[in-house]
Amino acid sequence: VPKKYYEYLQSLNDRQREAACSDVTIPLMIVAGPGSGKTSTMVGRVLTLLKEEFPPSNILAMTFTTAAASEMRDRIGTVVGKAVAKEIVISTFHSFCLQLCRTHAEKLGRTSEFIIYGNGQQRRAVIEAERLLESDKNNGLGDANKNCDGDIKNSFKDKAKKWQKFVTQAKASGRTPEEYEKKGDLTGASILRHYNEILRSCNALDYHDFINSSITLLTKFPEVYDECRNTWQAIVVDEFQDTSAMQYYLLKTLASHNRVTIVGDEDQSIFSFNGADVSGFDSFRRDFPNHKEVRLSKNYRSTRAIVEAATALIHNNTKRQSHKLVETDNPSGNKIIVKECHSEDSQCAFVIDKIIETTSSSVEGCHFGKIAVLYRRQITGKAFQASFRNRKIPFNIHGVAFYRKKVIKAIMAILKTTLPGCDDDAPWHQAFKAILPGDKEEKKKITQGRKVLSALDSLSKLVEREQSVSVVISSAGDMLPQKYLLEKRAIVDADGGKLLNEDNDIRSVLQFLMDDVSDFLSTHFSSSVDTSKTEEKGCASTLKAFIDYISLRETENFRSRKEENKNSITLTTIHQSKGLEWDVVFIVQANDSEIPLLHEYNGTVKEAGSTLEEERRLFYVAMTRARKKLYILHVTLLQPSRFLREIPAHLLEVQGEGTVRRTPEQPVNIPFDQPEGDTSVERPMVVRNETSPFPEMDQPCLANDFLKRFEIEDRAIISHIFHQWAKKQA
Ligand code: ATP
Ligand code: MG
Repeated sequence: VPKKYYEYLQSLNDRQREAACSDVTIPLMIVAGPGSGKTSTMVGRVLTLLKEEFPPSNILAMTFTTAAASEMRDRIGTVVGKAVAKEIVISTFHSFCLQLCRTHAEKLGRTSEFIIYGNGQQRRAVIEAERLLESDKNNGLGDANKNCDGDIKNSFKDKAKKWQKFVTQAKASGRTPEEYEKKGDLTGASILRHYNEILRSCNALDYHDFINSSITLLTKFPEVYDECRNTWQAIVVDEFQDTSAMQYYLLKTLASHNRVTIVGDEDQSIFSFNGADVSGFDSFRRDFPNHKEVRLSKNYRSTRAIVEAATALIHNNTKRQSHKLVETDNPSGNKIIVKECHSEDSQCAFVIDKIIETTSSSVEGCHFGKIAVLYRRQITGKAFQASFRNRKIPFNIHGVAFYRKKVIKAIMAILKTTLPGCDDDAPWHQAFKAILPGDKEEKKKITQGRKVLSALDSLSKLVEREQSVSVVISSAGDMLPQKYLLEKRAIVDADGGKLLNEDNDIRSVLQFLMDDVSDFLSTHFSSSVDTSKTEEKGCASTLKAFIDYISLRETENFRSRKEENKNSITLTTIHQSKGLEWDVVFIVQANDSEIPLLHEYNGTVKEAGSTLEEERRLFYVAMTRARKKLYILHVTLLQPSRFLREIPAHLLEVQGEGTVRRTPEQPVNIPFDQPEGDTSVERPMVVRNETSPFPEMDQPCLANDFLKRFEIEDRAIISHIFHQWAKKQA
């Protein structure tokens, strides 16, 4: 037993230590608030398993993001050495299941080469399923779908969205077409059946399929079950509150040996749109009746001001499972600064000023890596990216924002077409060859090498030479035969869409992608896969594994943590920030209709209520990421977030924009970025609430109108693409 193990245990408090060292054969559940050391205790638990001589390769640790996984590996590595830490399988539910599905693909009616369908491809498959349903109906086979009437052009997007939501929900809850049939929902059953059939015939699985198919493998194939049970002798799960019902079922099946630890906080459950279900805690209590339950109550992360403010906020949620006691011995620290800004530009400017102020003062010793800017929606991050770039402030583009970049999509689509199995006639497709630089011999060398790095390198060199990614990508699009419909779409999307705007930073995007490649090569192959085997199988599997890796990054919402050490500001959505901490945190665009983001929900009151509670949890997660300093910013065009009114005034320092401060009598100035010629936007009258520095929501509609405007461009592109596609189909 390494000495460092005991040192690590010493760093825990009594209750944490007791939990970490408790009998590993008894299921353990740790429920506690943010910053209370749940993850730290879980690391201690893994160390205890190692001490008890569980082979590291038989321990499975489930984390929610890749960032959390690598963080955990590092922490374990410092105690037991990197070599041992590498052998532990630390994985997200999705990548764990993907691996299982690949290994047993033929049992699922796929080949191990199967493709992963992301959001875009899923939507296209849904549209196709809908088209098939229509043609069933025309042949007199289907039932009458009354919703299909009306102007198809206008209702198309809504319908596709609706059906995609339906398919996603069906899969998240594990329902089959037969179950819908039994309930009398013939249209639903038919869409689902067509959809599944399309995926099967395309040799594809979507993200929900990984989980559901893994359950199928475990429950219908005893040999798979035995293999898993022998392999995964102990399981630990972090962020348990965001486990979906299907994921829980999988966990329960895998953990029938009782050597299982779960840690979580129901107040931080923020993925219910993905099927996350806090009732998992109750299920665990029921399914593992001999479990031990531990509560931690001390926050080690944040100043007292932050802890008190966050606690006051979350008290407004009525549907909490338990009221956890949260206290801290930390100093009370600065008040939370609430800053009102006239425009998004001045919001960026304020953040940049503060960043420069903080990092240049030697007293605070704070570097870029200890600062994060958090926002509710990706689009908010874009303005910050641009300003940071202009001011040469280093930053990480985290998460989906990066992988949803059209140029990345296009590059990945091109790479996909080059996979063997995608095209049996010509495994290395013309399109790729056509855009590769060099003469025939050179092209051959690159394609035969089948190396991700060299393929991407060639692509980026070419892009650099042409000075434009659109030229490269559209030529690839032109070369692709019709059968690559979905890939073509991604390319057309990239080319016809907003790619030109993205051209400016194409080099940095490609650089990020290259970083991913080296990251991928080092983490992926040094741990679970034997390198010699990889060489045997040929590098095609490397490219495929890389595409998997990138596809998963898109769902797991996180880029590698690597750059973060490199002294860069983190720009991320609140969703992706969970489990992490920074010295200084800026929550930006904290406006009503942004957080809480309610414009999408026009459902029943009950729905709106539970949505509001989830949004509050989201704000709670955001606030509790900060260790020392928290800034909350909002812009004047929209109302400040109603959550600000739930924080006791004495914990806040409210700062106005300076010269043009609002008063109850004086209407707010509409900022200069009001769209030209648009007089429909009325000036909001702001009435101040006596006890709170924040005005009541008096014009919710204004915000909604404003938000809608953001999406017009997207909508135009989508409908353009659809019309082109429909024309070709005809
Ligand atoms: P979250 O709910 O946000 O995931 P958590 O409960 O997992 O938070 P950790 O990330 O494990 O909390 O810990 C938060 C911080 O507190 C970390 O910086 C950790 O090093 C520190 N910490 C945890 N336990 C202790 C302790 N006993 N003594 C001192 N510091 C601690
Ligand atoms: Mg944690």
